[in-house]
Amino acid sequence: MKTFTQTFEPNLKCGICGNKITDRKSSYHSKFIPCSACERCRSTFSEKDIEIMLNMFLAYGGYFGQLSEKDFSLEEYMEKIGIEENLNSEETEELKVLILHTLLLHGITPEQYFHLIK
Ligand SMILES: [Zn+2]
Repeated sequence: MKTFTQTFEPNLKCGICGNKITDRKSSYHSKFIPCSACERCRSTFSEKDIEIMLNMFLAYGGYFGQLSEKDFSLEEYMEKIGIEENLNSEETEELKVLILHTLLLHGITPEQYFHLIK
């Protein structure tokens, strides 16, 4: 795991898309963890989404849109893992975190995900 000092070395990377952060002033810096998001991600996502994504990628690795969205069907995926049947189980919260991480890797935003599970 990265330490606070390592994160602020010159080759700072966006915790969401993995791009190099060149302009620190216009990038986003998490209030909770020593991670940052680039200017582009900052303008693309809401602050809430950015915090969620930074936390997810710090904890589980990867970056936003790492895997192809082309061959990925959100509906099929949800059906396959059977979220409906598992909604009342003890593992649900853990499962939701893993689902969200998988979706982020496929370039699906937290907003889209929360909309779906409502
Ligand atoms: Zn970025």
